[in-house]
Amino acid sequence: METRPNRRDLLKAAIGLAAGTASWAFGRTEKAGGEQSRAKENLFLLRYDTERGDPEGMKGFLEKVVEVHRSHQIPATLFCTGAALERMEMPFRSFYGEVKDDALFDIQDHSYSHIGLGYERGKPIPTLKADYERSFAVHERLFGVRPIGISMCATGGRDGNGLASFDATEKSRAELEMVASLGVRMINSYLTGVNRSRTFINYGVMGYPEIMGFPSGYPDTGWMHRRERGDPLEYILGEIRKRADRHETMPLMLHDWVAWTRAADRELTHVKRIVDAARKVGYKLVTHVDCLRNKDLWA
Ligand SMILES: [Zn+2]
Repeated sequence: METRPNRRDLLKAAIGLAAGTASWAFGRTEKAGGEQSRAKENLFLLRYDTERGDPEGMKGFLEKVVEVHRSHQIPATLFCTGAALERMEMPFRSFYGEVKDDALFDIQDHSYSHIGLGYERGKPIPTLKADYERSFAVHERLFGVRPIGISMCATGGRDGNGLASFDATEKSRAELEMVASLGVRMINSYLTGVNRSRTFINYGVMGYPEIMGFPSGYPDTGWMHRRERGDPLEYILGEIRKRADRHETMPLMLHDWVAWTRAADRELTHVKRIVDAARKVGYKLVTHVDCLRNKDLWA
């Protein structure tokens, strides 16, 4: 449903105009059918899956996000679990008070209890739905805003093997239908034949033309927390350069707890370095909701 633009939308539009982003040109965007269109600007999607909910361990994180992202003008999407929001209600309330009219920050959902979508076994649909409804209710209670985006949660072996797409099984089809029924307008690109980490899609091929799929990849749980690729910064900066050379979208999946407890300092220095390097090779940083609003990109 279309709503009248609020203060936040107007601010975003004004900022977009000021920054010359009113008409974006995009890097290679691959449509669901495999057709590709070549354009000028490479996009960088930085997000934090925000799920720790540990008031002591995460103390200071949200304030630092505001400080660093604002001073360096770094757009970020925070996909928050309802449970983390509840456990850190006061810090999140003050965070929202700070950022609610700032187009750099996009706040979306990551389920209530970190529940898995897209698994062979997985939880029954009513259980999944109740979990997302519970999370959305927390967002509404704390922020007065219902999320329209979900980043899918990885649940390891608990739910069986991961599927390749929402069109893989009857259950995964029902999962997307459930997500659509909640009013969700963006979720990971998760469709047969689509590269999950590179491609924006339109879920119209599954009957949901209003839903955008966004690329997702490079979780810091792998390259930073578990150090699976050697020196974390060397690795990720190398990947950014490779993607820039190929004019590909770069999704970067950070986690609140990794960025705060596994980094070399508590200044988000690694985030600044990553963004500086990305900008140097021509990336334009955007939030997920920026992409949703730019239908040329995915529809
Ligand atoms: Zn997660």
